[in-house]
Amino acid sequence: MITIINTRQLLLLFLLVLSYFPSLAQQETMDKQTKKLIDQLYKNAQAPDGYIHCATSPSEMLMHSKDYESREHSFEQYIGGQRSIMENKQLARAAVLEIPIIFHIIHNGQDLGTSSNLSADLINAQLEQLNNDFRKIAGSSGDGGGVDTEIQFTMALVDESGQLLPEPGIHRIDGRTITGAGTEPYSRTLYNSTIKPATQFDPERYLNIWTGGVSAPRGILLGFAQLPEAPDLLGIGTGNGGANTDGCVVNFFSIGSTSMPNPSFRAGPSRLGRTLTHEIGHWLGLRHTGGDGDCSADDFCADTPTAQGNQFGCSFGRDSCPEPGLDPLENYMNFTNDDCMDRFTACQKDRMRIVMGDTGNGSPRRAILASSTVASMAYSRTSSLSMAKTTGTALPSEDITISPNPANDVLFINGLPKGDYTLSILSIEGAEFLRKEVHNEETSYRIELELMNVGVYIIHVTGADLNFRKRILVDR
Ligand SMILES: [Zn+2]
Repeated sequence: MITIINTRQLLLLFLLVLSYFPSLAQQETMDKQTKKLIDQLYKNAQAPDGYIHCATSPSEMLMHSKDYESREHSFEQYIGGQRSIMENKQLARAAVLEIPIIFHIIHNGQDLGTSSNLSADLINAQLEQLNNDFRKIAGSSGDGGGVDTEIQFTMALVDESGQLLPEPGIHRIDGRTITGAGTEPYSRTLYNSTIKPATQFDPERYLNIWTGGVSAPRGILLGFAQLPEAPDLLGIGTGNGGANTDGCVVNFFSIGSTSMPNPSFRAGPSRLGRTLTHEIGHWLGLRHTGGDGDCSADDFCADTPTAQGNQFGCSFGRDSCPEPGLDPLENYMNFTNDDCMDRFTACQKDRMRIVMGDTGNGSPRRAILASSTVASMAYSRTSSLSMAKTTGTALPSEDITISPNPANDVLFINGLPKGDYTLSILSIEGAEFLRKEVHNEETSYRIELELMNVGVYIIHVTGADLNFRKRILVDR
């Protein structure tokens, strides 16, 4: 039996009671009451099997105990206002937004690929699941009844100093080497106070994801996220969390995908990668579809029908509230089984795109990520900047292809126009390995790679009507 509360009603009752207490007693009373509300939010998020699916709402309550309701309201006011701007002005949507990710794998010295020291295959599967879900890739498990959010994710290729990462998108750390961290599992508090600040990459260039053991006061926690921060925007203010804790944390055994479930069965029905889809939804400004309360609680999206609290399991056909529409079990922002989820709605897309800057008023550390170069054109930050200066008109990238990619000893650039152009091969950091003036009578050009080390490179071709760049992997 899941206990349901209406958070607002409880808070108002609490404020009424509080007014009868002398001022010195207020803080203690506030703390007790806040604790009670936080406990309730944790209970609302706890599945019958004992797993606590998400601690984003109790985390928010903890940070804003005195003004939780007003802050929630002001944030929603901002989002609502931005939605109106979007609808009224019919602003053209930006192109697909790509967010570079770094996965900080917090382990305790286990062999590579075991327990919390997750394999790169599993991390890559998780990335694919995120893109299936956010992009509603046709034929994939994310191709449900929702929308394509036109937000996608890519692995960071370089670290903060521009050095190529040994494994794309992955930063492995033995948690025991972090001062004050101790051994896993780690609590939400410890992640925020110790692990995140010690390991985070620049949150203006990376979406930081931490995987590891995660504990909670009365159970095991699957994940939590930090809501967007928007100090200069109407109705937002500061206080959703500092820059050095920005990102999402997910329990290592929830990392996976529908085609590569996490090999640990500890997460039961939550091992197909939807925990991270859900947490990134929060990170981009979404609330639980059930609003963390009863039928009067809201997620501020009219296209997610109201429901009595959060749902677990996978009981399709349930309709728990008088308002029309079945409970939104298939929504990523619910707490149902991973294999029941397959959609974001149009309203949820709008909210996330607003946070990412679609109305020109995006959230700090979010909107800027779409122009981060850590996953692609890192060389624009280097002394090789001149390499990027061309007068040519960019051709649609689909006109030119590179094969094979990954390449071994040779690759071909296909679909080139005949004529003169400059061919360059650069490291991801901008160092130039090859520069060649080419007069080509064919539409294909062959490049020998035998002398090049294994790694990621940029192929850059420029000419009178040509400005083509593509990332390649040399692998043997
Ligand atoms: Zn959540």
